[in-house]
Amino acid sequence: MVIATKHPTCSAADQRYRQVSGWLAGLPEPLDPRDPLLGDQQVDVAIAGGGLTGLWTAYCLAKGDPRLRIVICEREIVGYGASGRNGGFQSAGMAGEMRVYKRYGGMDIVRRAERAFIDGIDWVGDVVAHEQIDCGWHKGGALQIATSPTQAARVEAGVAGRRARGFTEQDVWEISLDELEQRVRFHGAVSATYTPHCARIDPARLTRGLARACENLGVTIYEQTPVTAIERGRLVCQQGTVQADVVIRATEAFTRDLPGGKRRYLRIYSHMLQTEVLLDHVWDELGWDNCEPIADQRFHFFYAQRTMDNRIALGGRGTSYYTGDRIADTNDHNEAIFVRIDEALRLHFPAAGEAKIEHRWGGSFAAPRDWSMQVDFDPMTGLGAAGGFAGHGLTGTSIAGRTLADLILQRETDLLRLPWVGHTCRKWEPEPLRAIAAKSISGILSSADVVEERTGRPAKRVRIVKRFMPSR
Ligand SMILES: Cc1cc2nc3c(=O)[nH]c(=O)nc-3n(C[C@H](O)[C@H](O)[C@H](O)COP(=O)(O)OP(=O)(O)OC[C@H]3O[C@@H](n4cnc5c(N)ncnc54)[C@H](O)[C@@H]3O)c2cc1C
Repeated sequence: MVIATKHPTCSAADQRYRQVSGWLAGLPEPLDPRDPLLGDQQVDVAIAGGGLTGLWTAYCLAKGDPRLRIVICEREIVGYGASGRNGGFQSAGMAGEMRVYKRYGGMDIVRRAERAFIDGIDWVGDVVAHEQIDCGWHKGGALQIATSPTQAARVEAGVAGRRARGFTEQDVWEISLDELEQRVRFHGAVSATYTPHCARIDPARLTRGLARACENLGVTIYEQTPVTAIERGRLVCQQGTVQADVVIRATEAFTRDLPGGKRRYLRIYSHMLQTEVLLDHVWDELGWDNCEPIADQRFHFFYAQRTMDNRIALGGRGTSYYTGDRIADTNDHNEAIFVRIDEALRLHFPAAGEAKIEHRWGGSFAAPRDWSMQVDFDPMTGLGAAGGFAGHGLTGTSIAGRTLADLILQRETDLLRLPWVGHTCRKWEPEPLRAIAAKSISGILSSADVVEERTGRPAKRVRIVKRFMPSR
């Protein structure tokens, strides 16, 4: 539940969209939708989905060839999906699995893929600066904090693995608890690592600012325009059709609603809360001047950031799958998870112990069967798509948009040689197998966290599900 911030326009649509996330609730501009598509149209490029994937693709195409006529059709408003709801970690966490990408060129391609994510952070920062997008983009790095010895062992193994893959001491390093204390007063830390490769952002401001930048470059965005079919040469919408040589799917977790999309991704929910604006004396106690996003190392981890308007936004502590990938606004609200993330907030940030919670919401991301992102374009049919970021889309979507633009404009760049280009994976199992598997994995991970906390030893049961879950 989001308590809508009062806004002078307060139309019914504005109020409805402010309920979607704390980020959308906090936007200074009215959220009245842009005009919908009414009737038919002929353009060069038609994109389904006004999240970051669709917008980055349109932005890079419009920059690359200003003559192109580009249209985005968005079912609700720009930023309605995960792009307007997420944790705001623009991290170097690669959207995909090493074991999957290795197939396309061994460790060399994995290293290049990881480097593309690291470099991708500054690429976004440069666009944000160039387009003057006021989204609190701040590259203060990120902290991974272990809150038990078993988590600490995982953090250590993670750092060793990165070192083995060529990450240096400038990329990630262990910090002492004293140094952690200087950065942020976090209760319950056992060990911590720091990486400079992460920026904090307000995701809704980024998404909506990028939409404005696209419009300034001549892109047309239709809102409240559901696409009902994506076909060669056209996007079929409820009240019209866009004919185009190039047609792009950028609908991520919502892809399951489109013809043929049902088993492409698992639609997984994550939930968040935001405190009220915290007063100066609370920040004096908390520190956190450099706004490093923080995550712990439980299997059902939490993630937290200090927002640009001085709140704490915290999410995670469990993910949910709803049988049949059901899409319903009620899925955005999960009381059990809200309780757990609230507890995590009070436990780890005691200085914010009395803070009121102003916003609670959920959102979904798309997990492919192999947890690895895909970018695809077929020049013969003009059909393209990107998605499957599995919760790592803030950098991944920009790489995908840049890559799609290069593919469409036939530019030979290094991006085209990264492992997600043309990558496909098998579909998820049909129901009820999918639901049984998703719920069993989530249940095993929850119980593994409890076991580790109780015994102080690694939970062996995780081995059973390891090959079905993403690495971190
Ligand atoms: C709670 C949460 C926390 C997250 N935290 C992080 C994080 O901290 N860091 C990170 O890197 N990633 C994070 N992610 C993942 C990240 O938000 C996504 O990977 C990214 O936003 C995906 O962008 P997208 O444009 O592909 O999809 P979306 O933002 O979901 O956009 C898809 C758009 O398509 C529209 N659409 C759907 N169907 C249709 C249709 N039929 N016709 C027209 N339009 C349609 C939707 O309305 C939506 O606007 C998080 C995700 C969630 C849910």
